[in-house]
Amino acid sequence: MDRRGWIHSVQGFFDSWAAEELLDWALHRFPGRIAIASAFGPEGMVLIDIASRLRRDIQVFTLDTGLFFPETYELIHKVERRYRITVERVKPAQTIDEQAAKHGPSLWQHSPDHCCYMRKVEPLRRKLSTLDAWIAAIRRDQTPDRAHAQKLEWDAKFGLVKINPLCDWSSEMVWDYVRTNNLPYNPLHDRGYPSIGCAPCTKPVQIGEDPRSGRWAGLAKTECGLHQTPGTDTLRVLQD
Ligand code: SF4
Repeated sequence: MDRRGWIHSVQGFFDSWAAEELLDWALHRFPGRIAIASAFGPEGMVLIDIASRLRRDIQVFTLDTGLFFPETYELIHKVERRYRITVERVKPAQTIDEQAAKHGPSLWQHSPDHCCYMRKVEPLRRKLSTLDAWIAAIRRDQTPDRAHAQKLEWDAKFGLVKINPLCDWSSEMVWDYVRTNNLPYNPLHDRGYPSIGCAPCTKPVQIGEDPRSGRWAGLAKTECGLHQTPGTDTLRVLQD
């Protein structure tokens, strides 16, 4: 049985595993060929903290679009100091200036799917081609695309194993872990930004609004294309 078939046959078994248990298993199952992908939201902070307690040599990467908030870049430095790791900055093929010269300025305003493809999806594909498994910080209740996330999945889009240790956690559970363990977090969360991505595409939200409504506000877009299944808008861009 190939890896994909094996995953499908056992994934129900893993669904009851706690985050720490699953991370421990995954880090031993794919040594040197597994990494945590993080944009340094509170979920990512929890994953990095749990994983760093299990192993010292964890690999962490971020899709550095070049458009993060200064607070996010500062948090990355804090994480590196606290856990004594080097976060790999996976960069797009084009700088922002090169992208502007080829596709026009502020591509995110008139074609955000295309921008996300070039600055996030393609770099992720390049990075994942070097791995056997990746660990994502998604939760099922964040977006409709994430509602059916499994703890252990075959990622058909990128062709490797995907581990979602926090997919059954609530936002309250995540923040409880962050506060109990005194983890660093992005200070923008205290200024009305529950979900933080690239600065041009992230706005603060009012109390009671959907926490992700500040991402691509005013557009139907809810995902970068990293955690979507085939058939979505971003994937169609990818195939154009
Ligand atoms: S979130 Fe916005 S700026 Fe960042 S890659 Fe996507 S469209 Fe571009």
